[in-house]
Amino acid sequence: MSETTAILPAVTDAMALEAESVSAWFGDHKVLDRVSLAMPARMVTALIGPSGCGKSTFLRILNRMHELVPSASLAGEVRLGGDDIYDTGVKVVDARKKIGMVFQKPNPFPAMSIYDNVVAGLKLTGTRVPRTGKDDLVEECLTKAGLWLEVHDRLRRPGGALSGGQQQRLCIARSLAVRPQVLLMDEPCSALDPTSTRRIEETIHELAGEVTIVIVTHNMQQAARVSQQCAFFLAEQGQPGHIVESGPTDRMFGAPDDPRTADYVNGRF
Ligand code: ADP
Ligand code: MG
Repeated sequence: MSETTAILPAVTDAMALEAESVSAWFGDHKVLDRVSLAMPARMVTALIGPSGCGKSTFLRILNRMHELVPSASLAGEVRLGGDDIYDTGVKVVDARKKIGMVFQKPNPFPAMSIYDNVVAGLKLTGTRVPRTGKDDLVEECLTKAGLWLEVHDRLRRPGGALSGGQQQRLCIARSLAVRPQVLLMDEPCSALDPTSTRRIEETIHELAGEVTIVIVTHNMQQAARVSQQCAFFLAEQGQPGHIVESGPTDRMFGAPDDPRTADYVNGRF
């Protein structure tokens, strides 16, 4: 059996986000073991694998949210455009500005207006936009998130009044407002109905090519539909999570190297 290291594409300038030999712990419980993955710029990478194998932990390491847990520690490197995001000279807020996150459960500020939800990301990260530019930015972000046509005449309504799928697209718009290079999405559709899921997938298609997307999904059809690259995570018999195999989505689904990948993507797990 091959070692835990993934098959890495050659590292070039075009590789937006790279994790190299990332291990993670909560206290002395090791949950990730030497995960290496290059996530090419302006492509969609899907992280797949059973619950508990460390996908969310890995995603949180990619934008320095892991360090918010007091017991958490990690080893290894994460680079964006070649620069270590954990370098002592890098401010956390600057790393998170470049690397946005959308969660499983839509979490807009419910009492805040749709408009203010979109610009809230700017305030949280201290990003300055001239007052006159805000309207344009709100329109642009809501358009990219596929929500503008539905809400343009009710921007002062509270975010919490939207449907679940609309709320998730509002959260995507909020993330986009700071113009991130990377968008991390942790099971963004698992709380949504099939129609809303389809709308989010369309949004992902439209955003890819502009931002680098890393999405965790339990839906294999979704992984096949939206991603160009997949990484299969597994935690075996109490072992920490690791990447069994990663590569182009077509190959991961059509002709994976590892029988465990074939079992998982074919639902025999
Ligand atoms: P996945 O997203 O693949 O389901 P997670 O990254 O959520 O996996 O979890 C990986 C492991 O880390 C699990 O064993 C989980 O119990 C543990 N874990 C996750 N978050 C914490 C935390 N805040 N404190 C302690 N253990 C955690
Ligand atoms: Mg998870």
